[in-house]
Order: sequence, then C-alpha cells, then structure tokens
Amino acid sequence: MSRYIPVSEMSTESALLYAGYRHDPVTRAVAVPIYQSTAYELVGDLADIADIYNVKEDGFTYTRIINPTTRILEQRWATVDGAADALAVASGQAATFLAIVNLCSGHPGDNVVVSKYLYGNSWNLLFNTFKRLGIEARLADPRDPSSFEQQANNRTIAFFGETFSNPCLIPLPVGLLAEIGKRLGIPLVVDNTTTPLVCRPGSLGAVITTYSATKYICGHGTTLGGLLVDNGNFSFEDPVRFPLFNEPDEAHGGILWHEAVHRLGDLGSSACLLKARMTWLRDTGAAISPFSSFHLIQGLETLHLRMQRHCENAAVVASFLQQHPKVRHVSYPGLSTGRDRDIVDELVDARIGHGAMIMFELDDEVAGRTFIQNIRLMYHVSNVGDARTLVTHPVSTTHTTVPKAQREAAGISDGSIRLCVGIENVNDIIDDIKRGLDAI
Ligand code: PLP
Repeated sequence: MSRYIPVSEMSTESALLYAGYRHDPVTRAVAVPIYQSTAYELVGDLADIADIYNVKEDGFTYTRIINPTTRILEQRWATVDGAADALAVASGQAATFLAIVNLCSGHPGDNVVVSKYLYGNSWNLLFNTFKRLGIEARLADPRDPSSFEQQANNRTIAFFGETFSNPCLIPLPVGLLAEIGKRLGIPLVVDNTTTPLVCRPGSLGAVITTYSATKYICGHGTTLGGLLVDNGNFSFEDPVRFPLFNEPDEAHGGILWHEAVHRLGDLGSSACLLKARMTWLRDTGAAISPFSSFHLIQGLETLHLRMQRHCENAAVVASFLQQHPKVRHVSYPGLSTGRDRDIVDELVDARIGHGAMIMFELDDEVAGRTFIQNIRLMYHVSNVGDARTLVTHPVSTTHTTVPKAQREAAGISDGSIRLCVGIENVNDIIDDIKRGLDAI
C-alpha cells in the first residue's frame, strides 16, 4: 500500500498539486520532468510491443500520440475536473476541432447544432472549415433551448456552446441542454475556456468539456495548449449517429473502441478519447509539446488562487463600470438578471466567483478608440486569461472585417470593450479604467 494519501481523498486545491504524479521513480524529482523525447525504446518481447501498437496494452510509442509529461497533465486535469479522462492537444482550437470531428460518422449528413454566440474562430471552424469537410453547423439560440431540439435530427452528432460566450458572455443553459441531448441521444460539448474551476460542465451533464488551456490554465500568456475532457456520462452506442464507435474502425486496423478500452489500464477510462488519440490526434498531428505541457502543469498549481483573485477583481471592476455615467451597459455574469441569472447561478461556483471577463458599452466607435488609446496599465491585447488585465476594442481588432450587421447580431457594437480582468491590485485597474473613461 502506498504511504501517500489517495488523490480521491484530496480537495481540488491539493489535487491540482498532486494528482497524477508524486515524484520521479528514479531521481525522486518533485517537479514533473519534461520528457522532451520524440520516441520510446521498444524493449522486450516483440509480441508485447505489438500489443501496445494494437491498443491491447498501455505504453508509450511516439510523442505525437502520447508523452509522459503530457499524460500527467491529462491525468491531473481529469481528476480536478471530475472526469473519466482528458486528452491534451496543441491549442484550444485543436481541442474544439478534435472534440467534434471525433464524433463524425464520415458519411454525408453529419451535423452539429451550435449556439449562435461563439468565439470567432470557433465560428470559422464550424461554419467554414467543417462545412468543407461535410459536417454541417446549424444555429440555435441558448436563450431558447428548444431551438437546439428543433434543429436536431438523427444525424446530429453534438450540441455545442460556450459556458459564457466569448466575448458577449451569454450563459449556456448547460443542465437543460444536457437533458435535451440525453433524451435525444446527442452529446453536449461545452467550451469552458473562460471558467475553469468556476464551472464544471460535466457535473451539469455535459458529455465533453473543452478548454483553451492557453488562457487561465496556463495563466501567464506564455503557452498554447488545449484539453478535451470526457465526463464519462455517455455511451456513444447509437449505431446510426456514431457508427465509428460501434463498427470496426478501419482508421485503426478494424478496432472496436468499446472493446479496446476494457483491455487497457491507464488509457482504459474513455473510449471516446482513446479513439481521438489513436486516430485524429495521430493523423492531424495536433500534439502539444512536452515543454508546453510542463508549463500548463505549472499553471495548474496556482489555478485556484488565480481564479479566485481574477473573479474578485472582476466583480469590483464590473460594479465600478456599472455606476459610471459614460458606460451604457455592462455584461458580466455576476450582474445578470432574470432568466440569465438563474442559468448563471446554476453554472458557477459562487464561492470562487463569476469569471473575469466583462463586456461594456461606450457610446460609439470613437469613444471605444479613445478609451483604448488612453489606458496606461492594461494591455491592449486580444488574448484572454493572462495574469495581467487585457483589454480589446473588438471593432478595431478581432471584428474589424466582420460586417456591421453580423457583428451586431453577435452582440458587438461599435463602442463595445472587452476586459479580461487580471490579478493586479484592483485599485490600479480601476485607476486605469478611469483614465480611459476620463479621456472620452
Ligand atoms: N475557445 C475560446 C472560448 C477562446 O477564447 C479561444 C481563444 O481565444 C479558443 C477556444 C481557442 O484557443 P487557442 O487560442 O488556444 O487555440
């Protein structure tokens, strides 16, 4: 018996430090080693080695598919997020791509019903790139959850949305959509990039959660990475919707994924992620580098402290903005009212807070530009989830090429400003916001 307490007896804060790794078995190094190795020597009986390649045994083969440093990141995050398993990939964009494409049948007719409020490049991926690959994206409105059901048919492979949409912060009714999905046999995939720890979509019935780990999980704006999480609550047994989960998969020598997982130990917790790893990750090459995985593990160690501080600062900033005469409107989950409020209350762990992204509206484009040009602390950067406060004027940056009508339908007006509140002293952030507003 191990002398260490099992991770199942630890709180989230401790699991972020301990899950998946205690020390290196040879050197007893406490920090997770960076296994910067492409390949692993194939030692021993050739039949045993073939078993690893045939997915009959766990083992390391090639870093495009699996890597020891990355595997610790995956195990640690799966434990913390209360999931069956996780798969780390090169970026958040790769996580979204793999999460959806892994569910497709490869036959015409596959479709995904998606929230109309999405991060811009998820929109591009779904409505342009997937279309070219024969996967149709169908729009639905999270404020009318029945629209997801109306858009679905027997070839709908997933419902997809963001916990709080980037940048407009529309809350996704995860519990309700998961329930509709469960009744119809459709898995709900949720991008929880903006609220790790604050929200656990899996506990509300989401089947797969995705993260751009580039954001809060990394936390310092240094490293790209993505995570797909299988919450272990869906069987993919519908042969019409998910033939590749139920028939021999030619992409891996006619393997049956549901059978394969039963033979495995470490990799045996998720048929869905095993399939994603052994086919889509292998074939797209969207692997994360071990060095990046190490950085994300470092990020995990302080994630709970940072999220708490991000959220506390954001609440103060949101309430300051709400009272300012030059600010027309503030969108922040902690200030939502009515039906949105009920959804927000279901989504967040209020002990941590309501996330750290805020959208606020100034009078017009000139006001937006003037604000940005007069701040002297915050970074004008179109990233999310850095320790520093980041600010963007979408109309001058990320959405400059998007036609006005389309922009406004997505909730972005000429005077919209997006803030991702950092962990500085909140008084410094408020002073800088005042500076920007005073100049208008
Ligand atoms: N999902 C959301 C909500 C995002 O905000 C982003 C990036 O901004 C992504 C996915 C893509 O992540 P990455 O930049 O790591 O590819």
